[in-house]
Amino acid sequence: MFFRAFLALCLLSSSVLAAAPGGVVAVSHPAAAAAGARMLAAGGNAVDAAAAVQFALNVVEPQSSGIGGGGFMMIYLAKTGETVIVDSRERAPAAARADQFAPDGLPMPFALASTSGLAVGVPGTLRGVDTALKRWGTQPLAATLAPAIELAGRGFRVNRFLAEDIANDDGRTALQPETAAVFRPGGVPLAEGGWLVQPDLAKTLKLIAAKGPNAFYRGPLARAIVKAQQRARSELGEAGRGRMTTADLARYEVAIRTPLMGRYRGWTLATMPPPSSGGLTMLETLGLLERFPLGDAAQGYGFGSAKTLHAMIEAMRLAFADRAVWIGDDDAAPVPRTGLLHPDYVAARSALIQSDGRMDTPQAGDPTPWEPAARPAPATRARAESPHTTHFAVVDRWGNVVTYTSTIEYTWGSGIMVPGYGFLLNNELTDFNFAPTADAAAGNPGANDVAPGKRPRSSMAPTMLFRDGKPVYAYGSPGGATIINSVLNVTLNLVDHGMTLQQAIDAPRLSVTHAAGRVSCEGGQAFMQPGFGLAAQEALRRLGHAGLGEAGTDGCGQTIGSVQAVSLDPATGGQDGAADRRREGTVVRLRR
Ligand code: GLU
Repeated sequence: MFFRAFLALCLLSSSVLAAAPGGVVAVSHPAAAAAGARMLAAGGNAVDAAAAVQFALNVVEPQSSGIGGGGFMMIYLAKTGETVIVDSRERAPAAARADQFAPDGLPMPFALASTSGLAVGVPGTLRGVDTALKRWGTQPLAATLAPAIELAGRGFRVNRFLAEDIANDDGRTALQPETAAVFRPGGVPLAEGGWLVQPDLAKTLKLIAAKGPNAFYRGPLARAIVKAQQRARSELGEAGRGRMTTADLARYEVAIRTPLMGRYRGWTLATMPPPSSGGLTMLETLGLLERFPLGDAAQGYGFGSAKTLHAMIEAMRLAFADRAVWIGDDDAAPVPRTGLLHPDYVAARSALIQSDGRMDTPQAGDPTPWEPAARPAPATRARAESPHTTHFAVVDRWGNVVTYTSTIEYTWGSGIMVPGYGFLLNNELTDFNFAPTADAAAGNPGANDVAPGKRPRSSMAPTMLFRDGKPVYAYGSPGGATIINSVLNVTLNLVDHGMTLQQAIDAPRLSVTHAAGRVSCEGGQAFMQPGFGLAAQEALRRLGHAGLGEAGTDGCGQTIGSVQAVSLDPATGGQDGAADRRREGTVVRLRR
């Protein structure tokens, strides 16, 4: 069919659209957004566009995602009304062992473990994108790689965010010579406005375009990946060497999953099931909150009121207590999904939230009575989280939608670049428990302990909100465990506070990621309106919440997540998008 499109690049605007939308792309970098728009303009669908965005992000946001990592791509198929997920999560190699991060019984320091080959999981992104294209796309893999090849070969302007991530990299871009040569040429970190050309990466992407994904998962490139991850940090010695073999790469497979479904105040949510904790924890938190009239200012609630924030904090603490204990890759160890979301279980947990004060640190609950077979609780540990990873969303002119969170785990992943091939390897295996928790005598299944072939527990939560069976919003965020709360904040802003999509993204977020945890909250950037007021913060301190600093000061100055989203209006057929100013969020809208 003849399709004429013209692009309207509307950076962070939310203008009303004409009646014949041709698709929308919302991405955290303008060049990657343009790559997706190019696919849509050429007649491609949302899956084609998502593939092009992902490959372009590998070039322009190399610190956050790429073919050396993994991710979760959720796709709504307009023709059938189905929603599917391509799970390209990294997997532990066959030689992985439960005690590999604690060989002498003592967990390795995260900074060392996460920058050694031992942390590298078998990458899934390329297999995932290729699978999605073959099943639901219309373009060949090579066409979706073309914009990324151009960006890598010709170069692009280094933006503020990339420059800051190099400057504040905890040394990660300086650890390995290949990584330093790209991001610190001649020992000088690339600065904003500099020009970055990546000839090795361009060559790799061309190779994949010519020969397909097997050029990555087999042959010389696979051997180069194996060799690169055999590097260990010298402090770790032999124990830090990666265990991936060419056989692990050759046997890597994605999983096609159905989304986890939930309800909140008349809306239906489709979100990410295990191996992510994202969907279950977010849905449980929403369930815990549903008895509070969060949107009703007349009852003392409403956006940013102490009553609303207190309820959110307590619900997060309860849900994260459960997350820490119960959730892992349930292809390897069963997760009590039914129990965690059962209305009776959720009601009993919600009753623990008191209006007059912070509860003592809650333990995980026991959702197993609602499961077919009872399973006792494993123990767990807290860990460092990185603010990175990336999320983008696409809708095409047919109403197909993609919401995709993609990662190499920590900012800069393991910091190991595959020599001669120009891409970074993930450190995803550090999302596992560092010390094994399985205990047969105590009935502890070790839900998130390392095991051969297993996927580490994630927090990524690509999500869609449906009304009357039709998708209305599709969104997600990076940010480690805070992902869950960024997605939750945006959901509350849309459903309870009646915000537009852009307002819901701009508004400051609040997050607690541990039962005993302190509050993190945003503020200090002009666009974060309405802010969390000093009076509300004071009230939270009086209720016993920590993390807000000294009385009388503004304790909300963090930055949490980076949400990209698209929206559809089922009544008019309209389409729109919104992006996050916390990075260089960009929306491209096309018209027919
Ligand atoms: N590894 C994290 C996860 O899968 C994502 C990385 C991040 O955003 O910190 O949940």
